[in-house]
Amino acid sequence: MAKDPAVLLAPNIWRIPVAPSDGVNTFALRGDDGQVTLIDTGLEWTWKKLVEGLAFAKIDLADVTKILITHAHGDHVGNVNRVLESSSATVLAPLADTPYLESGKAPSIDPKRRFRKLLEKRGGFDKVQVQQTFVDGELLDAAGGIRAMHTPGHTPGHTSLIHEPSGILFTGDVVHFWRKQIRIGMALVCHDMALNEVSAQRLSEATSDVLAFSHGPHVAANGRQAIHTFLASRSTQA
Ligand SMILES: [Zn+2]
Repeated sequence: MAKDPAVLLAPNIWRIPVAPSDGVNTFALRGDDGQVTLIDTGLEWTWKKLVEGLAFAKIDLADVTKILITHAHGDHVGNVNRVLESSSATVLAPLADTPYLESGKAPSIDPKRRFRKLLEKRGGFDKVQVQQTFVDGELLDAAGGIRAMHTPGHTPGHTSLIHEPSGILFTGDVVHFWRKQIRIGMALVCHDMALNEVSAQRLSEATSDVLAFSHGPHVAANGRQAIHTFLASRSTQA
């Protein structure tokens, strides 16, 4: 059976899987005022999937008023400029990642990583003009209130987001969900793996049982227990 192009996480909150096997997700949140916020925008070649997902959720691109970016990687900002062609959305991004977004270049990769230079060469994306920056703890005026939780490591400015009315945690790339398990964020393009490990522990602040990952299916129930079990296993490995 074909999968739906968008998955409802809570009333008016959608996960839009833009790559096969839930490999890359973007999210759309519609506020009570009808305004729509996107969290990340997928890869450039996933535009069609993004449009299909929004249509399935009965969201018009013109109603997108905010684009929140979790971090400066091409699989999260690939379609920002295209969304801006059809809307007058404001682009909001973490302060520490803004220079990377505006230069179209991903941050350096952890020196411990093999083939780092090769990967860095391929880490470019279309430049993104940021209109508003945010830092840790800020409550963003989007979809009833979205709290920024700075979780650096994957990139210097990497930020997870908590939708305050629902409590849903959008992890970004600190962790991902694969083969029925929460896993530490992909090391492949990580800027500082040790710092990412420290940041992951902050996810214990999650207040909802729904966990929304940028990579992998979401967790719809018992998310808090799942994240605590995962974090406990990481800290005993250290
Ligand atoms: Zn990333």
